[in-house]
Amino acid sequence: MPYISSGKAKDIYEASNDKLLFEFTDRVTAFDGKKKAEYQEKGEITCRMAEYWFKIMEQEGIPTHYISCPTPTSMLVKRLDIVPVEVIWRNYAAGSLLRRYEAGGVELPDGVEPEEGAPIPGGMIEFTTKFEAVDRPVDIKEILYNGWMSEQEIKYVTKLTKRINEVLGSGLSNADIILADFKVEYGRTPDGEIILADEVGTPDGCRFWDKAEFENGVIKSLDKDVFRKGTGDLTAAYGELFERIQKV
Ligand code: ADP
Ligand code: UDP
Repeated sequence: MPYISSGKAKDIYEASNDKLLFEFTDRVTAFDGKKKAEYQEKGEITCRMAEYWFKIMEQEGIPTHYISCPTPTSMLVKRLDIVPVEVIWRNYAAGSLLRRYEAGGVELPDGVEPEEGAPIPGGMIEFTTKFEAVDRPVDIKEILYNGWMSEQEIKYVTKLTKRINEVLGSGLSNADIILADFKVEYGRTPDGEIILADEVGTPDGCRFWDKAEFENGVIKSLDKDVFRKGTGDLTAAYGELFERIQKV
């Protein structure tokens, strides 16, 4: 199969004119690629988790690029024209939101405390650039100005992302896991329909916190923060997460 390119975590092949094959690798990166490593089984766990959630999204009426997983580490998807905007949904304050707040670059929604784990009532959506060297927050005005999405598409993507949050959140709460935030990407089919792309519900693209620990005032991450913060073994955290989700 012709090789196309490698992203930070996946290798991409051309399966046919209109289909791609993603090979989920064991690579992990953080801080815009400055911190790198490989963890055994990471590719398989993230691929299987993405498959798990894509199937649920489809059942819930959310259109996605998922076709099938021919092997435990690979996924066949519809080839799309990726919308050059990453979409972030936040239920709790964490990560870059707090870093930007501390640097004076953003205001928190009314009543939200500036600390990791502070709930954001009703949640909030943010957009960042996708194809610049470093992801940068962008507002709706800039998205419209650059023609990245129309006003109607922004509304649609916001509605889908909110729905994805509900679907992920209800599955996770049965496993006593809090969904703090997540990132999704969308792409256009040749007909111009916008559908969910890349991956969804994986610990590479979401923040997951153990609910029981959280209620005791401790943030126990079951996601890439384990690697970002160097607080434990990534394979063990990802493995525990998937086991707990599959059990419910
Ligand atoms: P990144 O370095 O951006 O994190 P990954 O390692 O996850 O990338 O590789 C996946 C790449 O494929 C990303 O650039 C993503 O935008 C792109 N992509 C995801 N889904 C599709 C699709 N259906 N069609 C075309 N490109 C896609
Ligand atoms: N995220 C991602 N890819 C990115 C940026 C963010 O998957 O390029 C995810 C990240 O894992 C987290 C959420 O989006 O679940 C919000 O990330 P944030 O903006 O707080 O940035 P970070 O702390 O990851 O730098």
